[in-house]
Amino acid sequence: MIKTAAKFLIPAVQSAKNALLGLVYPRACYGCESNLEEDDNYLCSDCRKQLHPIRRPLCEVCGQAYSGELTPPFQCSNCSDRILQFDFARAGYQSKGLARVLVHRFKYNGHFFLSGLLGEMLAATLQDPRLADVGSGEDEDDEWVLVPVPLHPKRLREREFNQADELCRQLTRSHGLKTVNALRRTRYTRRQAMLDRSERLKNLRGAFVISPRIRQRKEIHGRRVLLVDDVLTTGATASECAQVLSEAGALKVVVITAVRG
Ligand SMILES: [Zn+2]
Ligand SMILES: [Zn+2]
Repeated sequence: MIKTAAKFLIPAVQSAKNALLGLVYPRACYGCESNLEEDDNYLCSDCRKQLHPIRRPLCEVCGQAYSGELTPPFQCSNCSDRILQFDFARAGYQSKGLARVLVHRFKYNGHFFLSGLLGEMLAATLQDPRLADVGSGEDEDDEWVLVPVPLHPKRLREREFNQADELCRQLTRSHGLKTVNALRRTRYTRRQAMLDRSERLKNLRGAFVISPRIRQRKEIHGRRVLLVDDVLTTGATASECAQVLSEAGALKVVVITAVRG
């Protein structure tokens, strides 16, 4: 009984906390806390300038920004010597400076109110011409679906929310896309950030499975999937997830993240 009550109470307390945070930070810049101008959203113009949007030229496979001359289509050294299971990955911004701080605060300090800004940074990926038809499908069955990279239940309890779920929610709001929680994380893995590249791959092997729910499986079969996360680093996690989704019948898996590490 107490457990059931807690299940309903915790989200209520959470949303009250978020509403309160919204009041505490009414129209202040998320970067420097100065007052925002009327036209500014989330960040003042000076802080906006500290974000680094990823534009071409970039690696057409993993979305790594590249400064210099090159002949497209370009593939970088991170992914030219290995097989990634997704079609391609695209991030909105480079994970440096302010962007890196924002993601960190969102994920590890529970600054939930940053979800709108990070959702906007994620939505920037949809400017990529390869994703021009996202959100335009007249036939619902033909539309792309969002799949969040899942957290292990234990990690979810520690963090209280899955940042990828929140980012999906933002895209549903802005682009009307449907989220399907099609993946489960079955192993509690060590944090990827602490591992080198080969350790990351080993650490993740078999860590994800497709949802046992038939409805969620059906919603993936024959569909184009946008796999959503906050950050892409080596792409190992995304690749494992993409493999599981492809085996479940997804036609295409494209990874979109707010930032690229
Ligand atoms: Zn600012
Ligand atoms: Zn690459």
